[in-house]
Amino acid sequence: MSTQQFATQALHAGHDVTSTSGTRAVPIYQTTSYVFDNADHAANLFSLKELGFIYTRLNNPTNQILQDRLAALEGGVGAVVFASGTAAIATGLLTLLKSGDHIVASSSLYGGTYNLLNVTLPRLGITTTFVDPSDPENFEKAVQANTRTVFVESLGNPKLDVLDLKAIAAVAKTAGIPFIVDNTVATPALLNPIEHGANIVIHSLTKYIGGQGNSLGGVIIDAGNFDWSNGNFPEFTEPSKGYHGLVYHETLGAAAFTFKLILEGLRDFGGALSPTNAFNILQGLETLDIRIQQHSKNALALATWLEQQEEVAWVNYPGLASSSYKELADQYLPKGQSGIVTFGAKGGFEAAKTIANTTKLFSLLANIGDTKSLIIHPASTTHQQLDTASQESTGVTPDLIRLSVGLENLEDLKSDLKAAFSELKKTVLV
Ligand SMILES: *Cc1c(COP(=O)(O)O)cnc(C)c1O
Repeated sequence: MSTQQFATQALHAGHDVTSTSGTRAVPIYQTTSYVFDNADHAANLFSLKELGFIYTRLNNPTNQILQDRLAALEGGVGAVVFASGTAAIATGLLTLLKSGDHIVASSSLYGGTYNLLNVTLPRLGITTTFVDPSDPENFEKAVQANTRTVFVESLGNPKLDVLDLKAIAAVAKTAGIPFIVDNTVATPALLNPIEHGANIVIHSLTKYIGGQGNSLGGVIIDAGNFDWSNGNFPEFTEPSKGYHGLVYHETLGAAAFTFKLILEGLRDFGGALSPTNAFNILQGLETLDIRIQQHSKNALALATWLEQQEEVAWVNYPGLASSSYKELADQYLPKGQSGIVTFGAKGGFEAAKTIANTTKLFSLLANIGDTKSLIIHPASTTHQQLDTASQESTGVTPDLIRLSVGLENLEDLKSDLKAAFSELKKTVLV
Protein backbone atom coordinates (compact mmCIF):
# COMPACT_ATOMS: atom_id res chain seq x y z
CA MET A 1 0.00 0.00 0.00
CA SER A 2 1.28 3.44 -0.92
CA THR A 3 1.72 6.00 1.84
CA GLN A 4 0.91 8.83 -0.58
CA GLN A 5 -2.10 11.01 0.11
CA PHE A 6 -5.32 10.96 -1.93
CA ALA A 7 -4.59 14.00 -4.15
CA THR A 8 -1.21 12.55 -5.12
CA GLN A 9 -2.53 9.07 -5.85
CA ALA A 10 -5.38 10.52 -7.92
CA LEU A 11 -2.69 11.95 -10.24
CA HIS A 12 -0.15 9.14 -10.27
CA ALA A 13 -1.35 5.75 -9.00
CA GLY A 14 -1.28 2.97 -11.58
CA HIS A 15 0.78 4.82 -14.18
CA ASP A 16 4.41 3.82 -14.51
CA VAL A 17 5.57 6.18 -17.28
CA THR A 18 8.36 3.83 -18.32
CA SER A 19 5.69 1.37 -19.43
CA THR A 20 4.11 3.95 -21.77
CA SER A 21 7.21 5.29 -23.61
CA GLY A 22 7.58 8.06 -21.03
CA THR A 23 4.26 9.71 -21.85
CA ARG A 24 3.28 12.05 -19.00
CA ALA A 25 -0.38 11.79 -19.91
CA VAL A 26 -1.99 8.35 -19.83
CA PRO A 27 -2.26 7.34 -23.50
CA ILE A 28 -5.44 6.04 -25.09
CA TYR A 29 -4.79 2.49 -26.29
CA GLN A 30 -7.54 2.48 -28.89
CA THR A 31 -7.25 -1.17 -29.89
CA THR A 32 -9.51 -4.18 -29.70
CA SER A 33 -6.77 -6.80 -29.53
CA TYR A 34 -3.10 -7.53 -28.84
CA VAL A 35 -0.57 -9.44 -30.95
CA PHE A 36 0.73 -12.60 -29.24
CA ASP A 37 4.47 -13.37 -29.36
CA ASN A 38 3.65 -16.88 -30.61
CA ALA A 39 1.10 -19.66 -30.17
CA ASP A 40 2.53 -20.77 -26.81
CA HIS A 41 2.37 -17.21 -25.47
CA ALA A 42 -1.28 -17.06 -26.60
CA ALA A 43 -2.02 -20.39 -24.88
CA ASN A 44 -0.34 -19.21 -21.68
CA LEU A 45 -2.37 -16.01 -21.59
CA PHE A 46 -5.65 -17.88 -22.05
CA SER A 47 -4.75 -20.36 -19.31
CA LEU A 48 -3.57 -17.57 -16.94
CA LYS A 49 -0.06 -19.08 -16.75
CA GLU A 50 1.01 -15.60 -17.82
CA LEU A 51 -0.94 -12.39 -17.30
CA GLY A 52 -1.30 -10.08 -20.28
CA PHE A 53 -3.70 -8.40 -22.64
CA ILE A 54 -5.83 -10.57 -24.91
CA TYR A 55 -8.89 -8.61 -26.05
CA THR A 56 -10.28 -5.22 -24.91
CA ARG A 57 -13.58 -6.73 -23.71
CA LEU A 58 -11.46 -8.28 -20.93
CA ASN A 59 -8.84 -5.61 -20.41
CA ASN A 60 -6.94 -2.75 -22.01
CA PRO A 61 -3.82 -0.82 -20.90
CA THR A 62 -5.67 2.53 -20.53
CA ASN A 63 -8.46 0.84 -18.59
CA GLN A 64 -5.89 -0.99 -16.46
CA ILE A 65 -4.35 2.29 -15.31
CA LEU A 66 -7.82 3.58 -14.36
CA GLN A 67 -8.52 0.29 -12.54
CA ASP A 68 -5.26 0.37 -10.59
CA ARG A 69 -5.78 4.03 -9.68
CA LEU A 70 -9.32 3.47 -8.41
CA ALA A 71 -8.27 0.38 -6.45
CA ALA A 72 -5.54 2.47 -4.79
CA LEU A 73 -7.92 5.32 -3.99
CA GLU A 74 -10.50 3.02 -2.37
CA GLY A 75 -7.96 0.74 -0.71
CA GLY A 76 -8.87 -2.40 -2.67
CA VAL A 77 -6.76 -5.25 -4.08
CA GLY A 78 -8.19 -4.86 -7.57
CA ALA A 79 -10.78 -3.07 -9.66
CA VAL A 80 -12.66 -3.73 -12.89
CA VAL A 81 -14.16 -0.98 -15.03
CA PHE A 82 -17.40 -1.21 -17.00
CA ALA A 83 -19.30 0.72 -19.66
CA SER A 84 -21.51 2.39 -17.02
CA GLY A 85 -22.32 2.30 -13.33
CA THR A 86 -25.34 0.18 -14.18
CA ALA A 87 -23.21 -2.31 -16.12
CA ALA A 88 -20.95 -2.54 -13.06
CA ILE A 89 -23.86 -3.20 -10.68
CA ALA A 90 -25.64 -5.70 -12.96
CA THR A 91 -22.46 -7.58 -13.88
CA GLY A 92 -21.27 -7.59 -10.29
CA LEU A 93 -24.51 -9.08 -8.98
CA LEU A 94 -24.80 -11.60 -11.83
CA THR A 95 -21.21 -12.72 -11.26
CA LEU A 96 -21.81 -13.18 -7.57
CA LEU A 97 -25.35 -14.60 -7.46
CA LYS A 98 -27.42 -17.38 -8.97
CA SER A 99 -31.10 -18.23 -9.25
CA GLY A 100 -32.51 -18.87 -5.78
CA ASP A 101 -30.27 -16.34 -4.07
CA HIS A 102 -31.56 -13.38 -2.10
CA ILE A 103 -30.35 -9.80 -1.56
CA VAL A 104 -31.01 -7.53 1.39
CA ALA A 105 -30.88 -3.96 0.12
CA SER A 106 -31.39 -0.46 1.40
CA SER A 107 -34.66 0.93 0.06
CA SER A 108 -32.91 4.23 -0.55
CA LEU A 109 -31.30 3.47 -3.90
CA TYR A 110 -30.69 5.05 -7.29
CA GLY A 111 -33.89 4.52 -9.38
CA GLY A 112 -32.20 2.27 -11.94
CA THR A 113 -30.69 0.01 -9.28
CA TYR A 114 -34.00 -0.19 -7.45
CA ASN A 115 -35.69 -1.35 -10.64
CA LEU A 116 -32.97 -3.93 -11.38
CA LEU A 117 -33.41 -5.45 -7.93
CA ASN A 118 -37.18 -5.03 -7.73
CA VAL A 119 -38.28 -6.11 -11.22
CA THR A 120 -35.54 -7.50 -13.45
CA LEU A 121 -33.50 -9.78 -11.17
CA PRO A 122 -36.62 -11.54 -9.76
CA ARG A 123 -37.30 -12.69 -13.35
CA LEU A 124 -33.99 -14.58 -13.08
CA GLY A 125 -34.86 -16.00 -9.67
CA ILE A 126 -32.84 -13.52 -7.63
CA THR A 127 -35.06 -11.73 -5.13
CA THR A 128 -34.54 -8.71 -2.88
CA THR A 129 -35.93 -7.58 0.43
CA PHE A 130 -35.74 -3.78 0.68
CA VAL A 131 -35.35 -2.38 4.17
CA ASP A 132 -35.45 1.06 5.75
CA PRO A 133 -31.69 1.60 6.14
CA SER A 134 -31.95 4.09 9.00
CA ASP A 135 -31.97 1.20 11.50
CA PRO A 136 -29.18 -1.37 10.89
CA GLU A 137 -31.30 -3.98 12.72
CA ASN A 138 -33.66 -3.96 9.75
CA PHE A 139 -30.90 -5.58 7.68
CA GLU A 140 -30.37 -8.26 10.29
CA LYS A 141 -34.09 -9.06 10.44
CA ALA A 142 -34.28 -9.43 6.66
CA VAL A 143 -31.39 -11.90 6.29
CA GLN A 144 -32.59 -15.38 5.19
CA ALA A 145 -30.75 -18.67 4.75
CA ASN A 146 -30.37 -17.93 1.02
CA THR A 147 -29.24 -14.31 1.42
CA ARG A 148 -25.93 -13.86 -0.40
CA THR A 149 -25.26 -10.12 -0.22
CA VAL A 150 -26.19 -6.85 1.45
CA PHE A 151 -26.36 -3.89 -0.95
CA VAL A 152 -26.50 -0.20 0.01
CA GLU A 153 -25.56 3.30 -1.14
CA SER A 154 -23.29 5.08 1.33
CA LEU A 155 -25.06 8.37 0.59
CA GLY A 156 -28.42 7.58 -1.00
CA ASN A 157 -29.37 9.17 -4.32
CA PRO A 158 -31.66 11.13 -4.05
CA LYS A 159 -32.65 10.67 -0.38
CA LEU A 160 -29.16 11.79 0.81
CA ASP A 161 -29.38 9.52 3.83
CA VAL A 162 -25.99 8.74 5.35
CA LEU A 163 -25.84 5.07 6.31
CA ASP A 164 -24.21 3.63 9.40
CA LEU A 165 -21.85 1.51 7.31
CA LYS A 166 -20.00 -0.04 10.26
CA ALA A 167 -23.19 -1.40 11.81
CA ILE A 168 -24.51 -2.76 8.50
CA ALA A 169 -21.12 -4.30 7.68
CA ALA A 170 -21.30 -6.17 10.98
CA VAL A 171 -24.63 -7.73 9.94
CA ALA A 172 -23.18 -8.95 6.64
CA LYS A 173 -20.08 -10.26 8.38
CA THR A 174 -22.12 -12.29 10.87
CA ALA A 175 -24.15 -13.73 7.99
CA GLY A 176 -20.93 -14.62 6.09
CA ILE A 177 -21.94 -12.64 3.00
CA PRO A 178 -20.26 -9.75 1.17
CA PHE A 179 -21.27 -6.17 1.90
CA ILE A 180 -21.57 -4.11 -1.31
CA VAL A 181 -21.52 -0.33 -1.12
CA ASP A 182 -22.37 1.98 -4.02
CA ASN A 183 -20.18 4.97 -3.13
CA THR A 184 -21.04 7.11 -6.16
CA VAL A 185 -22.39 10.21 -4.45
CA ALA A 186 -19.81 10.33 -1.67
CA THR A 187 -16.78 9.54 -3.92
CA PRO A 188 -13.56 8.00 -2.57
CA ALA A 189 -12.29 11.52 -1.83
CA LEU A 190 -14.84 11.92 0.97
CA LEU A 191 -15.49 8.34 2.14
CA ASN A 192 -13.76 4.96 1.83
CA PRO A 193 -16.34 2.25 2.61
CA ILE A 194 -13.64 -0.45 2.88
CA GLU A 195 -12.37 1.29 6.04
CA HIS A 196 -15.83 0.70 7.50
CA GLY A 197 -16.14 -2.97 6.58
CA ALA A 198 -17.27 -3.01 2.93
CA ASN A 199 -16.13 -5.98 0.84
CA ILE A 200 -17.05 -4.59 -2.57
CA VAL A 201 -17.32 -0.93 -3.60
CA ILE A 202 -19.11 0.26 -6.74
CA HIS A 203 -19.08 3.64 -8.46
CA SER A 204 -20.79 5.18 -11.41
CA LEU A 205 -17.74 6.92 -12.92
CA THR A 206 -20.21 8.97 -14.95
CA LYS A 207 -20.81 11.23 -11.97
CA TYR A 208 -18.19 13.01 -9.81
CA ILE A 209 -15.20 10.87 -10.77
CA GLY A 210 -15.45 11.68 -14.49
CA GLY A 211 -16.98 14.88 -13.26
CA GLN A 212 -17.62 16.78 -16.47
CA GLY A 213 -20.67 15.07 -17.89
CA ASN A 214 -18.96 13.67 -21.00
CA SER A 215 -18.47 9.91 -20.51
CA LEU A 216 -20.32 7.00 -18.97
CA GLY A 217 -18.39 4.49 -16.91
CA GLY A 218 -18.54 2.27 -13.86
CA VAL A 219 -16.21 0.38 -11.57
CA ILE A 220 -16.22 -2.44 -9.06
CA ILE A 221 -13.46 -2.34 -6.46
CA ASP A 222 -12.66 -5.58 -4.69
CA ALA A 223 -11.51 -5.05 -1.10
CA GLY A 224 -9.97 -8.53 -1.11
CA ASN A 225 -11.15 -8.98 2.49
CA PHE A 226 -13.99 -11.49 2.05
CA ASP A 227 -13.52 -15.19 2.84
CA TRP A 228 -14.99 -16.89 -0.24
CA SER A 229 -14.24 -20.31 1.30
CA ASN A 230 -16.79 -19.94 4.13
CA GLY A 231 -19.24 -22.34 2.46
CA ASN A 232 -21.66 -19.77 1.09
CA PHE A 233 -19.93 -19.47 -2.30
CA PRO A 234 -19.08 -22.91 -3.71
CA GLU A 235 -18.46 -21.33 -7.13
CA PHE A 236 -15.29 -19.84 -5.68
CA THR A 237 -14.01 -23.06 -4.12
CA GLU A 238 -15.06 -25.69 -6.68
CA PRO A 239 -13.58 -26.05 -10.19
CA SER A 240 -15.26 -23.51 -12.49
CA LYS A 241 -17.14 -25.01 -15.42
CA GLY A 242 -16.93 -21.59 -17.05
CA TYR A 243 -13.14 -21.34 -16.93
CA HIS A 244 -11.72 -24.84 -17.51
CA GLY A 245 -11.64 -25.98 -13.91
CA LEU A 246 -10.11 -22.86 -12.38
CA VAL A 247 -10.65 -22.75 -8.60
CA TYR A 248 -10.89 -19.00 -8.00
CA HIS A 249 -10.30 -18.97 -4.26
CA GLU A 250 -7.36 -21.37 -4.35
CA THR A 251 -5.60 -19.94 -7.42
CA LEU A 252 -6.27 -16.21 -7.05
CA GLY A 253 -6.60 -15.74 -3.29
CA ALA A 254 -7.63 -12.23 -2.27
CA ALA A 255 -8.16 -11.22 -5.92
CA ALA A 256 -10.62 -14.07 -6.63
CA PHE A 257 -13.63 -11.82 -7.19
CA THR A 258 -11.64 -9.35 -9.34
CA PHE A 259 -10.68 -12.19 -11.69
CA LYS A 260 -14.17 -13.70 -11.72
CA LEU A 261 -15.49 -10.30 -12.80
CA ILE A 262 -13.07 -10.25 -15.73
CA LEU A 263 -13.00 -13.93 -16.74
CA GLU A 264 -16.76 -14.49 -16.42
CA GLY A 265 -18.47 -11.12 -15.88
CA LEU A 266 -16.85 -9.23 -18.76
CA ARG A 267 -16.36 -12.29 -20.96
CA ASP A 268 -20.01 -13.37 -20.75
CA PHE A 269 -21.90 -10.08 -20.38
CA GLY A 270 -19.53 -7.84 -22.33
CA GLY A 271 -20.11 -4.49 -20.61
CA ALA A 272 -16.54 -3.26 -21.23
CA LEU A 273 -15.50 0.39 -20.93
CA SER A 274 -14.25 2.12 -24.07
CA PRO A 275 -10.58 3.14 -23.65
CA THR A 276 -11.42 6.66 -24.83
CA ASN A 277 -13.95 6.96 -22.02
CA ALA A 278 -11.36 5.60 -19.59
CA PHE A 279 -9.06 8.43 -20.72
CA ASN A 280 -11.80 11.05 -20.24
CA ILE A 281 -12.59 9.66 -16.79
CA LEU A 282 -8.88 9.73 -15.85
CA GLN A 283 -8.80 13.45 -16.73
CA GLY A 284 -11.65 14.02 -14.29
CA LEU A 285 -10.18 11.80 -11.59
CA GLU A 286 -6.99 13.89 -11.54
CA THR A 287 -8.92 16.85 -10.08
CA LEU A 288 -11.55 14.97 -8.04
CA ASP A 289 -10.05 16.00 -4.72
CA ILE A 290 -10.30 19.75 -5.24
CA ARG A 291 -13.54 19.57 -7.21
CA ILE A 292 -15.45 17.61 -4.59
CA GLN A 293 -14.32 20.02 -1.87
CA GLN A 294 -15.70 22.96 -3.84
CA HIS A 295 -18.90 21.07 -4.79
CA SER A 296 -19.40 20.36 -1.07
CA LYS A 297 -18.78 24.00 -0.06
CA ASN A 298 -21.15 25.36 -2.71
CA ALA A 299 -23.82 22.80 -1.80
CA LEU A 300 -23.68 23.58 1.92
CA ALA A 301 -23.84 27.33 1.27
CA LEU A 302 -26.75 26.96 -1.15
CA ALA A 303 -28.63 24.60 1.20
CA THR A 304 -28.20 27.09 4.05
CA TRP A 305 -29.55 29.87 1.81
CA LEU A 306 -32.47 27.74 0.60
CA GLU A 307 -33.57 27.17 4.20
CA GLN A 308 -34.22 30.92 4.42
CA GLN A 309 -36.36 31.19 1.26
CA GLU A 310 -40.11 31.50 1.75
CA GLU A 311 -40.95 29.40 -1.34
CA VAL A 312 -39.09 26.42 0.14
CA ALA A 313 -40.92 23.96 2.43
CA TRP A 314 -37.89 21.94 3.54
CA VAL A 315 -34.22 21.41 2.66
CA ASN A 316 -32.22 18.20 2.88
CA TYR A 317 -28.42 18.25 2.92
CA PRO A 318 -26.49 16.00 5.30
CA GLY A 319 -24.13 18.84 6.29
CA LEU A 320 -26.94 21.09 7.56
CA ALA A 321 -27.34 21.41 11.32
CA SER A 322 -31.06 20.72 10.79
CA SER A 323 -30.41 17.39 8.98
CA SER A 324 -31.35 14.20 10.77
CA TYR A 325 -28.21 12.69 9.18
CA LYS A 326 -25.86 15.37 10.57
CA GLU A 327 -24.42 13.10 13.25
CA LEU A 328 -23.71 10.28 10.77
CA ALA A 329 -22.34 12.85 8.31
CA ASP A 330 -19.91 14.09 10.98
CA GLN A 331 -18.80 10.50 11.52
CA TYR A 332 -18.61 9.27 7.91
CA LEU A 333 -18.27 12.45 5.80
CA PRO A 334 -16.25 14.91 7.88
CA LYS A 335 -14.39 16.28 4.82
CA GLY A 336 -17.58 17.33 3.02
CA GLN A 337 -20.97 15.91 2.11
CA SER A 338 -20.77 16.14 -1.69
CA GLY A 339 -22.76 18.32 -4.05
CA ILE A 340 -26.36 17.07 -4.03
CA VAL A 341 -29.07 19.10 -2.30
CA THR A 342 -32.77 18.31 -2.30
CA PHE A 343 -35.59 20.60 -1.28
CA GLY A 344 -39.36 20.66 -1.28
CA ALA A 345 -41.23 23.34 -3.18
CA LYS A 346 -44.20 24.89 -1.41
CA GLY A 347 -47.06 24.10 -3.77
CA GLY A 348 -46.03 20.47 -4.30
CA PHE A 349 -45.72 18.58 -7.61
CA GLU A 350 -46.69 21.47 -9.92
CA ALA A 351 -44.53 24.02 -8.11
CA ALA A 352 -41.53 21.67 -8.22
CA LYS A 353 -42.05 21.11 -11.94
CA THR A 354 -42.27 24.86 -12.56
CA ILE A 355 -38.99 25.52 -10.75
CA ALA A 356 -37.22 22.78 -12.72
CA ASN A 357 -38.71 24.26 -15.87
CA THR A 358 -37.60 27.83 -15.19
CA THR A 359 -33.97 27.74 -14.05
CA LYS A 360 -31.42 28.56 -16.74
CA LEU A 361 -28.01 28.12 -15.11
CA PHE A 362 -29.19 24.87 -13.50
CA SER A 363 -29.66 22.64 -16.54
CA LEU A 364 -32.75 20.46 -16.50
CA LEU A 365 -31.37 16.96 -17.09
CA ALA A 366 -30.96 13.49 -15.60
CA ASN A 367 -27.42 13.39 -14.23
CA ILE A 368 -25.41 14.41 -11.18
CA GLY A 369 -21.80 15.24 -10.47
CA ASP A 370 -21.10 17.56 -13.40
CA THR A 371 -18.98 20.71 -12.95
CA LYS A 372 -22.09 22.50 -14.24
CA SER A 373 -25.15 22.82 -11.99
CA LEU A 374 -28.06 20.51 -12.72
CA ILE A 375 -31.70 20.29 -11.65
CA ILE A 376 -34.38 17.63 -11.89
CA HIS A 377 -37.85 16.86 -10.57
CA PRO A 378 -37.52 13.09 -9.89
CA ALA A 379 -41.26 12.37 -9.38
CA SER A 380 -42.01 13.34 -13.00
CA THR A 381 -38.78 11.98 -14.54
CA THR A 382 -36.17 9.55 -13.11
CA HIS A 383 -38.63 7.98 -10.66
CA GLN A 384 -41.73 8.29 -12.85
CA GLN A 385 -41.84 4.53 -13.53
CA LEU A 386 -41.92 3.61 -9.84
CA ASP A 387 -45.31 3.36 -8.12
CA THR A 388 -46.06 5.83 -5.32
CA ALA A 389 -44.98 3.43 -2.55
CA SER A 390 -41.67 2.69 -4.29
CA GLN A 391 -41.15 6.40 -4.92
CA GLU A 392 -41.63 7.08 -1.26
CA SER A 393 -39.30 4.32 -0.07
CA THR A 394 -36.57 5.60 -2.41
CA GLY A 395 -37.09 9.02 -0.82
CA VAL A 396 -38.89 10.72 -3.71
CA THR A 397 -41.82 12.92 -2.70
CA PRO A 398 -43.95 14.80 -5.28
CA ASP A 399 -42.55 18.20 -4.20
CA LEU A 400 -38.89 17.12 -4.22
CA ILE A 401 -36.35 18.91 -6.40
CA ARG A 402 -32.83 17.54 -6.71
CA LEU A 403 -29.98 19.94 -7.34
CA SER A 404 -26.51 18.84 -8.33
CA VAL A 405 -24.60 21.93 -7.29
CA GLY A 406 -21.79 22.73 -9.71
CA LEU A 407 -18.73 24.91 -9.55
CA GLU A 408 -20.30 28.19 -10.76
CA ASN A 409 -20.20 31.31 -8.63
CA LEU A 410 -22.59 30.92 -5.70
CA GLU A 411 -24.31 34.29 -6.17
CA ASP A 412 -25.09 33.42 -9.78
CA LEU A 413 -26.65 30.13 -8.65
CA LYS A 414 -28.79 31.94 -6.06
CA SER A 415 -29.95 34.48 -8.67
CA ASP A 416 -31.00 31.65 -10.98
CA LEU A 417 -33.11 30.01 -8.27
CA LYS A 418 -34.53 33.37 -7.16
CA ALA A 419 -35.76 33.98 -10.70
CA ALA A 420 -37.46 30.58 -10.68
CA PHE A 421 -39.09 31.32 -7.31
CA SER A 422 -40.47 34.61 -8.70
CA GLU A 423 -41.96 32.70 -11.62
CA LEU A 424 -43.63 30.43 -9.09
CA LYS A 425 -45.33 33.40 -7.43
CA LYS A 426 -46.73 34.44 -10.82
CA THR A 427 -48.16 31.01 -11.61
CA VAL A 428 -48.51 28.21 -9.09
CA LEU A 429 -48.69 30.04 -5.78
CA VAL A 430 -51.25 32.72 -6.78
C1 LIG B 1 -25.96 7.21 -11.78
C2 LIG B 1 -25.88 6.22 -10.71
C3 LIG B 1 -25.79 4.86 -11.01
C4 LIG B 1 -25.81 4.33 -12.42
O1 LIG B 1 -24.69 4.75 -13.13
P1 LIG B 1 -24.68 4.95 -14.74
O2 LIG B 1 -23.27 5.30 -15.01
O3 LIG B 1 -25.65 6.06 -15.03
O4 LIG B 1 -25.11 3.66 -15.34
C5 LIG B 1 -25.69 3.96 -9.96
N1 LIG B 1 -25.70 4.39 -8.68
C6 LIG B 1 -25.80 5.70 -8.36
C7 LIG B 1 -25.80 6.09 -6.93
C8 LIG B 1 -25.90 6.66 -9.35
O5 LIG B 1 -26.02 7.94 -9.03
